[in-house]
Amino acid sequence: MNIVLFGAQGSGKGTQAEKLVATFHCHHISSGDIFRDAFEDGSELGRVAHSYIERGELVPDDITVEMMLQRITQPDIARAGFILDGFPRTIAQAKALDEGLAKLGREIDCSVYLDVPRAELIKRLSGRYICKAHQHVYNVRTNPPKVAGICDIDGSELYQRTDDQGSAIEKRLDIFFSETIQLLDYYRAQNKLLHIDGNRDIDEVSADLIEKLKKYLSR
Ligand code: AMP
Repeated sequence: MNIVLFGAQGSGKGTQAEKLVATFHCHHISSGDIFRDAFEDGSELGRVAHSYIERGELVPDDITVEMMLQRITQPDIARAGFILDGFPRTIAQAKALDEGLAKLGREIDCSVYLDVPRAELIKRLSGRYICKAHQHVYNVRTNPPKVAGICDIDGSELYQRTDDQGSAIEKRLDIFFSETIQLLDYYRAQNKLLHIDGNRDIDEVSADLIEKLKKYLSR
């Protein structure tokens, strides 16, 4: 099962992807996490990507596509299937993804759009904290950790991403609503689009998402 999960920053992609992994036993691949890990490791890819990420801009398509296809085509991932979180973000990336998968005789089965209004996204992003060890996501208002500043799951410290602060938030949302939103038409034209109302409680969204996805996949 190969799924693209897309939605604006703060729409709950990472959280819902984890729920899908628990249900469908496939891999969760987050392009943002891969870039951040590469930066932590001090690699050239991480260094180049970091300058774009800090400004709230997209990393160029050629760099992103190469990195993601390399990951997706690893045998264990190709075998179990994957949920893509944060990739593709442009039509060019979506086309490159389709072409890369076609070479392996595979394809995207379904694309899920998590729909959340912009005002709610800004509220969520400005309250978002991430754990240092495994990027588990919390929100000071809607999903606080049991102990302030500490991850419930692995006990690591929580931090606020620099691109969740100040003008980078608005810039990232502008890019999403002008560019990434075009994926709606791309996947609708392929008859592979599931539209999910993401402006609800986490558990309500995941119950609806899993039910609709199961129905969709058994068509
Ligand atoms: P995310 O954690 O998904 O919000 O990603 C953090 C940042 O990584 C983004 O703001 C971009 O700078 C970069 N990034 C992640 N995925 C992509 C992508 N598919 N295309 C270009 N840049 C990306």
